Amino acid sequence: MFERPRGTNDWGPEDMTKRRFVESRFIQRAESFGFREVSTPTFESLDLFTAKSGPAIVRELYAFKDQGGRDLALRPEFTTSILRFYASSLRSLPKPLKVYMTGNAFRYEEPQKGRYREFHQLNAEILGGAPLSSDAEVLALAIETMRAIGLKQVKARIGHLGILRSFLPFKPADQAILLHALDKRNLEMLDAELARLGQKDLSAPLGELIQLSGDVSVLKEAEKVLGRAGKEGFGYLRDLAGLLAAYGISASDFAFDMGVVRGLDYYTGMVFEIDSPNLGAEKQVGGGGAYDLAEIFGGEPIAQTGFALGLDRLAMAAEAEGTIEPSRPLDAYIVPIGDAARTKAVQILTSLREAGFGVDIDLVGRGPSKNLDYANAIGARYAVLLGERELKAGHATVREMATGVQREIALADLADSLLG
Ligand code: AMP
Repeated sequence: MFERPRGTNDWGPEDMTKRRFVESRFIQRAESFGFREVSTPTFESLDLFTAKSGPAIVRELYAFKDQGGRDLALRPEFTTSILRFYASSLRSLPKPLKVYMTGNAFRYEEPQKGRYREFHQLNAEILGGAPLSSDAEVLALAIETMRAIGLKQVKARIGHLGILRSFLPFKPADQAILLHALDKRNLEMLDAELARLGQKDLSAPLGELIQLSGDVSVLKEAEKVLGRAGKEGFGYLRDLAGLLAAYGISASDFAFDMGVVRGLDYYTGMVFEIDSPNLGAEKQVGGGGAYDLAEIFGGEPIAQTGFALGLDRLAMAAEAEGTIEPSRPLDAYIVPIGDAARTKAVQILTSLREAGFGVDIDLVGRGPSKNLDYANAIGARYAVLLGERELKAGHATVREMATGVQREIALADLADSLLG
């Protein structure tokens, strides 16, 4: 027996029903917002990821040499690939460019429930729109996706990195260390770094700031803490709240949270995270924000904003909240009785499939009663029994599996009988 690699999953038919449910709701919403699908390779040149995130990222990647000696890595997310694609080809398309992508991503992480080495993401990006309206559009899509999945217990927490950065007037490298400490809510590290930079007095207001979370009124409190810093950012977040209301997003679906930092250096403005509290430790189902990357990949500077939702975690949340719709049951299972009936049975099977029904047929040559057990086990709505004598008379016996009621139906009326 072989075991699958650590941190990977096999997904059976029941799991895939749940996962496709989540994915299809995202795709429906994204397309209704005017996003169009793109797809990029599962592996890329390693230096694409180090250009974006620095050399330390290699420890978190599945990086390898191919047989030609090229340094490659499996993608840990999609944004980098989309930006590479944009810089090399997509920039000639009309802007703003609104794209979405779904697929697998790989990170060398310590696996646990909801944290895998291969996982699936649902991603949307807007390139080249005006920042405020584009940020509102991606946030609205993320929240609408949650709604379309039927999740009630989710909340988007919205912060602003521009506000934090303007309160931390240090060299980018020092700013990055401080933001990292804030992201991890590591106040000890924050204190130590501020002491090293001779700015210990920033420690108390920062500590206070990252605790602030709530509706628009929280912005006033945050402004009090920060004094003059971040004025622009606060105005921006107020405008964003106004736009989200216009999208019909209820105030209870999001909160402003000054402690949302999102670890990575390339975020510049609005940032957000979405949690599903019933998932336990790995409760974050998605995150995103405004970032600045196109220039790194050789594109002109343009506004960029986007998000990634974790499909695995969304499917778990949907299951926990009982929102998943079962997949469409098989309409009919055909039971040929006797070898001579099989050819005609296959013709009937084919015509029903062509008419758009989901239809299966006995592939084993079982007797009728075993076949009815099987039809029951696979959840067929009807069993269609075709004996030689009935076929000669132009009839079939149609059994409704839930009730056991059987009717003789003329072959010409078979399709109609399955509609009921
Ligand atoms: P990130 O790019 O880290 O912000 O990830 C976006 C979303 O992808 C997260 O909020 C998670 O829902 C999901 N995700 C990230 N890493 C993993 C992982 N190792 N396993 C499962 N889901 C993940």
